[in-house]
Amino acid sequence: MQLKRSKFEINLNPIQRGGILTKEAREALIEFADGYSVCDFCPGRLDLIEKPDIKKFVHEELPEFLGCDLARTTNGAREAMFAVMNSLKVAEKNKSQIVLADGNAHYSSYIAAERAGLDIEIVENSGYPEYKIDVENFEEKIDLNKPVLVLLTYPDGNYGNFPNVKKLSKICKNKGIPLLLNCAYSMGRLEIKLNKLGVDFLIGSGHKSMAASGPIGVLGFNKEWEKIILRKSRYFPNKEIEMLGCSSRGPSIITLIASFPIVRERIKYWNKEVEKARYFSGEMEKLGLKQLGEKPHNHDLMFFEAKPIYEISKKHKKRGYFLYHELKKRGIGGIKPGLTKNFKISTYQLTKEEIDRVVKAFGEIVK
Ligand SMILES: *Cc1c(COP(=O)(O)O)cnc(C)c1O
Repeated sequence: MQLKRSKFEINLNPIQRGGILTKEAREALIEFADGYSVCDFCPGRLDLIEKPDIKKFVHEELPEFLGCDLARTTNGAREAMFAVMNSLKVAEKNKSQIVLADGNAHYSSYIAAERAGLDIEIVENSGYPEYKIDVENFEEKIDLNKPVLVLLTYPDGNYGNFPNVKKLSKICKNKGIPLLLNCAYSMGRLEIKLNKLGVDFLIGSGHKSMAASGPIGVLGFNKEWEKIILRKSRYFPNKEIEMLGCSSRGPSIITLIASFPIVRERIKYWNKEVEKARYFSGEMEKLGLKQLGEKPHNHDLMFFEAKPIYEISKKHKKRGYFLYHELKKRGIGGIKPGLTKNFKISTYQLTKEEIDRVVKAFGEIVK
């Protein structure tokens, strides 16, 4: 079987823009492509390997980057969420079995909770058109449910909204409930520091936002949680149970490390990314589309309601697929074939020229 991928000159798919590999990562990927090749010099646990220097990355660079004491890599953001939830389930047997999450939480947050045998309660968003999370609404629900964990998505993967995490961390501290911040769409794009935000757990996704091939997740927390999250096996006293001994043992961690110097640098230019996103949103609205979610927008992920395009699709012989084909002709991809009414776009790391090319394409299509 020939495995080929059709690529576009400009890819607008939000889940892919932050995971595009750096040149350094692409080279490292080939170097460590063979199975278990990261384990050549393993002293007994993945995060302790010094050749290549995973130890320095996990024990020094990541905690410093995240402003916390400890970090681990997992096989994805969802696995990191599961590790926290499962640890709390085991450690807090006598507490409630509820995770209280924001209404914009990713589906994998629900499934992680289910896998850990926990129930989910939700703090609803404000609905159309901004779908905002008002963190003050957590207070009452915390009193009502006494959750074992509060989960906030920062930002969410639908609208790219940033809820007020600092306010929520104060509420959670007051109530004595740990707070997990899901930064799958932010860690690696902008500065995320655990101690500044006042949360207990930070979750990231290497293939979503850290220029890694993945699948790989990042988990950061402070020492107070070490005994619970990094509890060791009874049978293999060196191995951490939630990591199943060793987690991301392959090219996933190699590409994450290889891209890290560039990722650490690129977060300094986040305000430029926000400017570009706002410019794009404004131009699309001039064409009659409507950006949902927070306005002015604070993230490169944007959800559009595209009534003019939907109207065209009703009369077009290709129906809903016409948008995909019209964009494809112009070298642009990343919107799912068939979608016209609503779709998500990211402008992350596109140049101004590329953004203008996309705007021009939509302008021609709407006309
Ligand atoms: C993409 C995404 C995830 C899942 O990330 P994985 O690393 O693939 O598990 C979780 N939460 C949010 C908000 C996401 O956008």
